[in-house]
Amino acid sequence: MLVICLSACAQNNVQNKYGLNIVNDFQSYKAAIAKNPNVELVDIKKAIPTVVLDIRYATKNNFMKQVMYKQARAFARKPVVEKLKIIQAALKKKGYGLKIYDGYRPYAVTVSFYQKASDKNFVANPAKGSKHNRGCAIDLSIIDLKTGKDVPMPTPYDSFEAAAAPHYTDLPAHIIKNRDFLINTMQANGFKVIYNEWWHFDFVGWQAYDLMDIPFEKL
Ligand SMILES: [Zn+2]
Repeated sequence: MLVICLSACAQNNVQNKYGLNIVNDFQSYKAAIAKNPNVELVDIKKAIPTVVLDIRYATKNNFMKQVMYKQARAFARKPVVEKLKIIQAALKKKGYGLKIYDGYRPYAVTVSFYQKASDKNFVANPAKGSKHNRGCAIDLSIIDLKTGKDVPMPTPYDSFEAAAAPHYTDLPAHIIKNRDFLINTMQANGFKVIYNEWWHFDFVGWQAYDLMDIPFEKL
């Protein structure tokens, strides 16, 4: 049986050098959507026009100091975006709104991050892939709707400092309150914060979604 499986896998020719299955052609992606509409990568700004985008990887203002995305867009799987819509509505009632830094990230970008990052604890290992590659992780913060300004958080986005950890306590009380409000809002609506980055949220149920390597301009 093992031999049969191996030959079937080889026929599909989708495993990379780490043995990961990666969807990297548009036809396979379209076929997957036809089977299960939930796998669609939805443009977040189109689905929720009130979100603010600050796509740092489409600029040089990021830890890589280089442009990684050709387009300043953010995508996530359909059920992920549906949850974000609920969160945006809940935040609005309290005078806040989402600011999104990153969503789906093509696998090739994760490979580049890992090659160049100074601190490998803050970047996903390509041998496993990132939940961003599955369209199931979102990097975000919140803004004050009255002023349009960022709500103060413990560190800037993509900081490699210890204070980026969601349970870090050596901070002013109002900063902790802001951070915990963001985390509690996300975790009440189907996401889980990662252990070392207050801005990174994994969609609960990410295991059901494949790793992807299709660039934004094809979506
Ligand atoms: Zn992230």
